[in-house]
Amino acid sequence: MLQASDTSDITIPSVFLAKNEYRALLYLSKIVDTPMMILLQLDDFITWPLLDILMIIFVSPSIIMIFIYISWQLRQRRRKQQEVAPIDVVSRLLMKQFLTEKVKENEAEECAICLEDYINGEELRVLPCKHDFHTVCVDAWLTTQKKFCPICKRDITFIIEKTTHLLQQNSQQAPLLIEP
Ligand SMILES: [Zn+2]
Ligand SMILES: [Zn+2]
Repeated sequence: MLQASDTSDITIPSVFLAKNEYRALLYLSKIVDTPMMILLQLDDFITWPLLDILMIIFVSPSIIMIFIYISWQLRQRRRKQQEVAPIDVVSRLLMKQFLTEKVKENEAEECAICLEDYINGEELRVLPCKHDFHTVCVDAWLTTQKKFCPICKRDITFIIEKTTHLLQQNSQQAPLLIEP
């Protein structure tokens, strides 16, 4: 390597080996007495740039798609939670018993959700907007579909928040619904 004369015409063949291949060759050299001929072959198909390109083409879009899908699922779940009323809020809403003899002239006698007529003595849930429904029907509607009254579309959580806030301002015990 330190020749005073010009060495540019000297070519020293060299090859890079991975550690595993080096060990395999070392092992062979110990067990084989005769000289070995090692044939170096370039595998065109599995050269690293091709692998990299394949990774970029197939793996990256899959990761991006999975990421987009997960974030979309999370957004959907969050939106769904915002659209429905919490169970504890719904369970604190007023209830009344349907009595045929006490029905006033313009009062509903059927549930607007299942369209079944109320039976005498049946338990009904009364929303802050004064519309009533079967407890089972309206509880399922508010907690799994929408937090709006199925008839007048008023947000029951908004009405409750407003009522509670007004009552707190008046320093009173805060029931969820004010009787008219
Ligand atoms: Zn019903
Ligand atoms: Zn209503």
